[in-house]
Amino acid sequence: MAITISEAELRQVVSQVLDKVQAAPTASYDSTQYGGRKLIGVYDDMNDAIAAANEGYKAVRAMAVEEREKIITEIRKLTRAEAPIMAQMGVAETGMGKVEHKRLKHLLVADKTPGTEDIVSNAKTGDHGLTLVEMAPFGVVGAITPSTNPSETVICNSIGMIAAGNGVVFNPHPNAIATSNYAVDLVNRASKAAGGPEVLVCSMKKPTLESAAIMQSHPLIRLLVCTGGPGVVRAVLSSGKKAIGAGAGNPPVIVDDTADIKKAGKDIIDGCTFDNNLPCIAEKEVFAFRNIADELISAMLKNGAYMIDSEQANRLAKIVLVEKTDKKGNVRKIVNRDCVGRDASVLLAKIGINVSNDIRCIICETDFNHEFVQEELMMPILPIVRVDNIDEAIELAVKAEHGNRHTAHMHSKNIDHLSRFAKAVETTIFVKNAPSYAGIGFGGEGHATFTIAGPTGEGITSARSFTRQRRCVMADSFRII
Ligand code: NAD
Repeated sequence: MAITISEAELRQVVSQVLDKVQAAPTASYDSTQYGGRKLIGVYDDMNDAIAAANEGYKAVRAMAVEEREKIITEIRKLTRAEAPIMAQMGVAETGMGKVEHKRLKHLLVADKTPGTEDIVSNAKTGDHGLTLVEMAPFGVVGAITPSTNPSETVICNSIGMIAAGNGVVFNPHPNAIATSNYAVDLVNRASKAAGGPEVLVCSMKKPTLESAAIMQSHPLIRLLVCTGGPGVVRAVLSSGKKAIGAGAGNPPVIVDDTADIKKAGKDIIDGCTFDNNLPCIAEKEVFAFRNIADELISAMLKNGAYMIDSEQANRLAKIVLVEKTDKKGNVRKIVNRDCVGRDASVLLAKIGINVSNDIRCIICETDFNHEFVQEELMMPILPIVRVDNIDEAIELAVKAEHGNRHTAHMHSKNIDHLSRFAKAVETTIFVKNAPSYAGIGFGGEGHATFTIAGPTGEGITSARSFTRQRRCVMADSFRII
């Protein structure tokens, strides 16, 4: 008997299999080789990596824009083809996220990161002739990348930085170094295949805070681009060099009583659970109007959420957040790295609740001061706070965002409410009536990036963010009118 299976069913099966593939242990990965092949562009010493990236920069400078674009086309091609490998590696090495979602993130980077078309010149003509403003490269860019979107960020940064004509040296997150260096090697393989230099972008075998410090003070590094948490962004911004900082967020979601509640419930769970909440733009806490909160929770429960009570939430909070004493002896709560990006079922098991893998999000009702609301957990745990009206919703959501000015979301059909929240929260990304990932071009208009630069203002970074403006003046001639 012949069995027929539709494309949609096949996709679902592939997706389920990918998510169930047991990730290989970290030790099987090496930051200098993959499958017996030496990774290109990986150095023991940051000074050597910078020197090699400078050679890459010289090669890019000598290229026509068309040649750069050929390299970028090849990067896109290899990224699409090798997305499953990097997705699998990312989960295996870091223990965080979902293989299928990481695969989709790589496809997003391949398809929607702008290339050389993003670099545009401006001309001004007038009584005194012609002035041309061009977007020039900085030189060698020093990039620090996170563990949460490791290869995605390396490839996204590489496309934009190369399109702008720069060389690049990475100091990736040590916990994701093999995956990050696989991506560095991919970019170099693409360069070679497209007729570019064999070593175009570089990285470290064993990145450390010391190697980051060398990068930050090296005279050949003209621009620093940092994608990571508050500590590293602060360090880079105080380096004395031009820096782009893409830091932490804690995106709130408001749902008012004009929203399509069923859709809001599904969208919020879809966004919150994408790659197990690792994207910095993902929904982190919900402020729901009291009169629709039950209906919203019911919609969430129908879409893979599991509700815990306040006693269970408090027990879970003691596990997912741990106390850390800083150098000054102050004790503060930080996220437990063993819980970041883990499956909801794994987190629930820690408090003795066993559920199937169909459960993708843990929800709970809390008050505003609960740690689940205040801390950026990066886990599929979503606290819901009931509010009486839009004034209270906006006031609390703005406070929960902590002035990061990163990302916020709202489900509403009331344009006054939408406009008021957008104005008050001042975030780089504001998503209306959609899952959070629409804000980076996944199911929404606009280009993609994994470096969202709120603190320094470049916003949804792209090639033009990695350029410096240069002006050329031809006085009193070169007009044609
Ligand atoms: P992290 O902050 O733990 O580390 C980022 C990188 O910085 C790593 O390479 C780390 O080794 C290095 N580092 C840490 N402190 C440093 C210092 N003082 N000097 C030099 N290097 C240092 O990042 P993570 O946990 O992988 O990422 C999660 C954080 O990053 C979250 O806060 C998330 O919101 C944020 N993030 C932001 C964006 C964005 O686009 N705005 C994107 C991804 C992640």
